[in-house]
Amino acid sequence: MGKKVIIIGAGLGGLSTALRLSTRGYQVEILEKYHQPGGRLNQLQKDGFTFDLGPSFFSMSYEFEELFKDAGVQNPLEFNELDPLYGVYFSNRKQPFLIYKNLEKLAQEFKGIEEKMAAKVEGYLDQAGDIFHDTEFRVVKKNFASRVAYLLGLTKVPLKHAPKLFRSMWSELEKHFESEEAKVIFSLVAFFLGSTPFNTPAVYSLLNYTELKHDGYWNVKGGMYKITEEMVRLVEERGVKIHYRTEVKDFAYAKGEISAFIDQNGKQWKADLFVVNADAAAFRGKILQREKYSAPRLDKMDWTLAPFTIYLGVKGKIDNLYHHTYFLRDNFREYADEIFKTSMIPDKPYYYVNVSSRSNPECAPEGCENLFILCPVPDLRFKSDWDDREEIADNILKDLSERVGFDFAQNTLSRTILTPLEWRDKFNLYQGSGLGLAHGMNQVGGFRPANKDEVFGNLYYVGASTVPGTGLPIVVISSKLVTERITADHGIVPKRQLQLQ
Ligand SMILES: Cc1cc2nc3c(=O)[nH]c(=O)nc-3n(C[C@H](O)[C@H](O)[C@H](O)COP(=O)(O)OP(=O)(O)OC[C@H]3O[C@@H](n4cnc5c(N)ncnc54)[C@H](O)[C@@H]3O)c2cc1C
Repeated sequence: MGKKVIIIGAGLGGLSTALRLSTRGYQVEILEKYHQPGGRLNQLQKDGFTFDLGPSFFSMSYEFEELFKDAGVQNPLEFNELDPLYGVYFSNRKQPFLIYKNLEKLAQEFKGIEEKMAAKVEGYLDQAGDIFHDTEFRVVKKNFASRVAYLLGLTKVPLKHAPKLFRSMWSELEKHFESEEAKVIFSLVAFFLGSTPFNTPAVYSLLNYTELKHDGYWNVKGGMYKITEEMVRLVEERGVKIHYRTEVKDFAYAKGEISAFIDQNGKQWKADLFVVNADAAAFRGKILQREKYSAPRLDKMDWTLAPFTIYLGVKGKIDNLYHHTYFLRDNFREYADEIFKTSMIPDKPYYYVNVSSRSNPECAPEGCENLFILCPVPDLRFKSDWDDREEIADNILKDLSERVGFDFAQNTLSRTILTPLEWRDKFNLYQGSGLGLAHGMNQVGGFRPANKDEVFGNLYYVGASTVPGTGLPIVVISSKLVTERITADHGIVPKRQLQLQ
């Protein structure tokens, strides 16, 4: 029998680590505070509609393939490639820009707006692709023993990329494109990292490469929650037990190791090893009481934007919406400068709409659609009172009504709103930040909370706020990295021995 591991959290990070470790003969149990698995990759069922709670698409689909291969199974999920990747509406233009991977089709969308678009995108993505491939195995998919080791690792990345550390993504885009529209659209990825394109380093143009050239964007047949369901099925087949409504509140230790984590009822959960899938920074502060992660110090860190999400079941079909569609305005710079630090939500905010019933009709009753609307908002440090939630939602829906020509007021059958308060309380997201710690150069690699604890020898971390970072495929990579750490420290049960048991 392998060592016993307790994982705290049944998010994608926890589940994929459970899958990898149980495949290697470890005995795994998971403690989860919510009543069902998935963390942010969760599901809401209401009034006959089914909604994915958070993620609606992903890049780097091959990371999931790698995970299933690692577990010795066929990928049980059916992935659909998004084409177009997404649509973008600006307020001063009736037609959306459809963003295609096919450069000829993309150039058509920018006809009369950005000349020689295909050649320009090609040039931009060639450089972005170089950064991606020069850092993928040297930096991103690698465990570093210390900050010094990380900094040494960086020296292996070709020097030609160095200037892109010092200029912003926006200035990089300015070097390649003339139109405001092209620059704004390609800079949207910066918001996923927790910053604006005006202060995100240009190296992150690699994300444009992942979306537009490398692997594109994908969703899952049957809805994104299928990922969670299939992962749970696979781990349970391997004997992993998941305890829901079990929140870790405290810990016990002896001889430099964690001896138990303690839940809200005072029950002690003992194991040889522990993996924390809760936020790696906040957990160190709140549960382990580390000074470096005390509330004032956590508040000084950079966090990604918080989600304000609306789940809408509507009667009828809405034209002019794609699998995922951004609704922007024409005050991008002003918006980007304000959005991280304001306590006021503008009457006409920027938002994103996803209609999963388009590709999964079973998610809505006949003749109806399910809408997921995500508006990135300041986290609870900047706006703690969300009593204006209905008003904010009404403003967004009024704007959407005008832009797609659909009467939401008359046709809404189901409406649920989650503010950063609910996102915080459901999954312990720090100050309601949606994607966890941001990805400035001072919070990535050796500067991000490590996946091996600084104090306790048997404690590890996986997920969005440890290495390498946030987003579904990156969290899957995180599970690979922590598994490598654990097996390097504690070994693998030989297959032969496993079969004899
Ligand atoms: C609205 C929204 C939209 C998003 N859209 C996308 C997208 O389209 N594509 C994409 O790639 N990414 C997207 N993301 C990001 C993605 O969801 C995350 O990066 C990823 O799901 C994080 O997984 P995780 O396992 O690290 O954390 P989580 O999913 O947060 O899992 C951690 C788990 O730990 C549990 N937990 C926390 N504290 C405790 C405790 N003390 N005791 C017990 N259990 C505990 C939580 O309840 C949770 O289940 C989105 C995120 C949000 C919020």
